[in-house]
Amino acid sequence: MLVVQKYGGTSVANLERIKNVASRIAEYWERGDQVVVVVSAMSGVTDSLIKMAHGLLPSPNRREMDVLLATGEQTTIALTAIALHALGIPATSMTGAQAGITTDGAHTRAKIRNVSPVRIRQCLNAGHVVIVAGFQGQTDDDDITTLGRGGSDLTAIALAAALKADLCQIYTDVEGVYTADPRIVPNAQKLDEISYDEMLELASLGAKVMQSRSVEFAKKFEVIFEVRSSMNKKPGTIVKEETKSMEDVIIRGISMDKNQAKVTLAQVPDRPGSAARVFGALGDANLSVDMIIQNGSPKTAEPCTDISFTIEKPFLKRATDLLLGIKNDLGFNGLAHDDQIAKISIVGVGMKSHSGVAAQMFRALAEAGINIQMISTSEIKVSIIVDIENADTALKVLHAAFFPEAAKADKIATAKN
Ligand code: ADP
Ligand code: ASP
Ligand code: MG
Repeated sequence: MLVVQKYGGTSVANLERIKNVASRIAEYWERGDQVVVVVSAMSGVTDSLIKMAHGLLPSPNRREMDVLLATGEQTTIALTAIALHALGIPATSMTGAQAGITTDGAHTRAKIRNVSPVRIRQCLNAGHVVIVAGFQGQTDDDDITTLGRGGSDLTAIALAAALKADLCQIYTDVEGVYTADPRIVPNAQKLDEISYDEMLELASLGAKVMQSRSVEFAKKFEVIFEVRSSMNKKPGTIVKEETKSMEDVIIRGISMDKNQAKVTLAQVPDRPGSAARVFGALGDANLSVDMIIQNGSPKTAEPCTDISFTIEKPFLKRATDLLLGIKNDLGFNGLAHDDQIAKISIVGVGMKSHSGVAAQMFRALAEAGINIQMISTSEIKVSIIVDIENADTALKVLHAAFFPEAAKADKIATAKN
């Protein structure tokens, strides 16, 4: 069997953990499998590299950021290979470039263009375990690139697709994908399986257990993968194409994203082209907007309307600067922004065939006295914006409403203890 395994930052956080990873790899190698391992930087390393660069300049050159950030994973591949050598197992480390991963030139968020794992195959055929640096690639001009935060997941999925791996395992610090982040909702339940579409929604709406682009890639190339713990042997969560029986579950999970901000433009002239100007300007600057609300306007001679939208926090300043720059041109009256908000989303393919889910969500929040600022829906999700102060409570309240068995099971377990 050809197995691709990915170990995240906490799983390689120190030498003890790296030894643990090596002994797990050894098990597969010793039973005769070909093993390709993708590792992340040791936990905290990528963040501290970013912090160092920002200590020198607020917006460092992106090409240099990639040269810097790629060093994190490079440390781990060598240490993991050395840990395997210590067990007497032949292992070779490779950077993204050596592994044949080529990308476009969008530094710090590059897209994979091609994977040509020629050297990986040669090494595997020679009986070696191959350890690949996650999160990085190389342009056609030999520049180092990185694939966006959490990008080691993408490296693993892309290699599993290119190598037509029999097994793709994503090892992390929780036992799988849960109905909500188990660090915030202690009685969240581990899922046995989840569809690509549900995983994609949860990931892009804030569940950082998988990088959303990696899930998109897995869906496109039909890579079935398992999210599981690097600390025990329990089976994790299988992520795969939706099956009919998955629709029996209405809500699969709930995610939360505290990295959001809201912008409101007051009294925008309500005429054809206004929204196009606002969102065209943001789009041209590569600023992607998520939820949008436009209020109705009274039928007056010069009707005006308020437009609100959400954007990721790091892009807030660029968005407001840009809009204020075209204020007179657009003719709006004022701009307000708020970065003390959070987005909470319920996700499930079963919603396609069930009504009343949104109402149940709003009722649960109303009973808890939590105000909803914005709402958006799609076929398999409902998202709301709340004040950040209420975010954790809202997540727990919704979890209790949609997964009452989990709360009950938790009570019984507590009573027994
Ligand atoms: P790694 O370093 O292994 O890539 P991450 O920190 O990127 O791990 O992702 C794992 C974390 O994702 C967990 O520790 C957990 O707090 C968080 N998480 C958020 N939502 C979920 C969820 N629905 N299921 C499991 N984990 C989740
Ligand atoms: N080290 C990178 C990050 O922290 C990539 C990853 O861990 O997946 O985002
Ligand atoms: Mg991750």
